[in-house]
Amino acid sequence: MKRISYFCATNYTILTDIIHLLPDNIANQIAAGEVIQRPGSAVKELLENAVDAGADEIKLIISDAGKSLVQVIDNGKGMSETDARMAFERHATSKIRNIDDLFKIKTMGFRGEALASIAAVAQVELKSKRATDEMGTYLEVENSLVTKQEPVGTNTGTSIAMKNLFFNVPARRNFLKSNTAELRNIVDEFIRVSMAFPEIFFSLQSNGQEVFHLEKGSLKQRIVQILGNNYNAKLVSVQEQTDYLNIMGFVGKPETAKKTRGDQYIFVNNRFIKSAYLNHAIMNAFSELIPKDSYPMYALFIDLDPSQLDINVHPTKQEIKFEDDKIVYAFVQSAVKHALAQFSITPTLDFDLDPTIQGLDSVSKPFTQENQSSAASSSLYQTFSQKNQAHFIERKSDLKHWKDLYEPSPNKSNQQSDIGATVSMHKDYINEVEVFQLNLKYIAVPKDAGFLLVHQQNAHERVLYEKYSHAVAGKPIATQQSLFPTTIELSASDTVLLQELLADLKELGYQIELFGKQTFIIQGTPADVEQGNEKGAIEKIIEQYKNFSSDLKFSKREKLFRALALQHSIKIGAKLGQKEMQLLLVDLFACEIPNSTPNGKPTYMTFQKDELDKMFGR
Ligand code: ADP
Ligand code: MG
Repeated sequence: MKRISYFCATNYTILTDIIHLLPDNIANQIAAGEVIQRPGSAVKELLENAVDAGADEIKLIISDAGKSLVQVIDNGKGMSETDARMAFERHATSKIRNIDDLFKIKTMGFRGEALASIAAVAQVELKSKRATDEMGTYLEVENSLVTKQEPVGTNTGTSIAMKNLFFNVPARRNFLKSNTAELRNIVDEFIRVSMAFPEIFFSLQSNGQEVFHLEKGSLKQRIVQILGNNYNAKLVSVQEQTDYLNIMGFVGKPETAKKTRGDQYIFVNNRFIKSAYLNHAIMNAFSELIPKDSYPMYALFIDLDPSQLDINVHPTKQEIKFEDDKIVYAFVQSAVKHALAQFSITPTLDFDLDPTIQGLDSVSKPFTQENQSSAASSSLYQTFSQKNQAHFIERKSDLKHWKDLYEPSPNKSNQQSDIGATVSMHKDYINEVEVFQLNLKYIAVPKDAGFLLVHQQNAHERVLYEKYSHAVAGKPIATQQSLFPTTIELSASDTVLLQELLADLKELGYQIELFGKQTFIIQGTPADVEQGNEKGAIEKIIEQYKNFSSDLKFSKREKLFRALALQHSIKIGAKLGQKEMQLLLVDLFACEIPNSTPNGKPTYMTFQKDELDKMFGR
């Protein structure tokens, strides 16, 4: 049967032409997939359009984490009636005219795809008016078609409302994440745009509640408004200027470094970019000042001639290519070192790169093609870029490779470890044997013909993780009321995050309530949180939680358990007494999955006597 139908199909194709053009709305829907993946993508595009329109007041309104509404209202230059209609056509842009313009881009947008994409996958309502027009234009667009158009009385500027994202592409709609995850993504996008334009007022309202209200001000004020008061008086200014490129912005003093890479922003010509490569340059500048595995805050703005950049390598423009990325790397690193040195945070002696960079022709002289190549071949440059930066040697040409090196993929750490069958140990046995702590890290436990080596932190992480899972499954952890309830003030985005976690935290023994707009009151914590340290404990939970928050496959609870287990676990370096070790072992072997951490790291290894004998040739 199969064969027959196969032949039929073949004959059919010989007889008829099969290629046809897709209708516009379908083509737009497909193209939209690249630009509008989730509500946050629309937020980014609409905010950028408002910035490009010269607005100095931009309001973002969302409901249902952007799934039912994303609206941006600006007081920018507005659109004529014809432009308003045109704006929704694919490749409709006022920002470039020819390919040469691509290399002089000063606007955030230029591909003319955003509005067409949004109109293909959502219902759109637009109101717009130019200052010179008496009446504005009202438009409704759905499935790429204008369904209503009429004059309207409205303020100068533009309001675009995107409703019911993916209403016509249910498969896509189903792919949207939980409201918490989508809201976080929206907040991230909002921060990335608003941080770059402190001279513009921005607000964000979510389900009728104002989450951000960012008055116009200096960059420093904007950073503190967004990232929280903790950074006040803790920011070091970075500022270097050359003819080739400028850098300005702030880095956090080393003591503000956190365990997550959350507060790190690089902007190139005011565009937020992701660059593992430049991140590495900054981390290098900090290398001796902060502990390993901790991340300094930075918000750095690099400005250079747009002809030295390709921002068109990625549909959402978050990855860019520098004409000469080594110079940018060296420059960023030295600028940050310099800033830290000036604030006597790092000994000035350490700082020897700046003169080298300043001496490069391409940096000290006006930029020309010749300057650039002569600089790159100069011996100064070579020593500087190869000897001092060993990673250049390893580096392959594509940026993806860098990502692998510096941002380990989350999947790798989550595979269940394959460490053989689970060992069982009865608590009576554990309580009888003598166990030994080694290197303040391992516990050696004699067992049958051989021994077990248990990793104290990994083991405790497993124990806590299961304890927390049981707590929300009907065995809540007791709360210890604080003698003096403390308050904690958070940044707007952390406020959103903590609010989402309050109910689960309650089951886990944390009694916290919202108290004012961005302030919480801590009434009680579980007994193992030291009195007086409640605030620090909550801050750490938020930090750890963010660590996992890009991992979309975990539920909110799952992330919380992991964060708490990590935070409260016995750390490497902690000296343990005989009783403590035995207690830990008893708890570990009472776990459902005693042999690995929630992230799949082994908690113990077994060593058999006969294998050991073999190793020693006996
Ligand atoms: P791009 O930004 O790449 O040009 P878009 O699809 O985002 O493409 O927008 C198309 C055009 O619509 C813009 O070039 C601009 O002329 C106009 N436009 C979009 N949003 C606004 C706005 N908020 N105010 C004024 N004009 C706008
Ligand atoms: Mg745009």
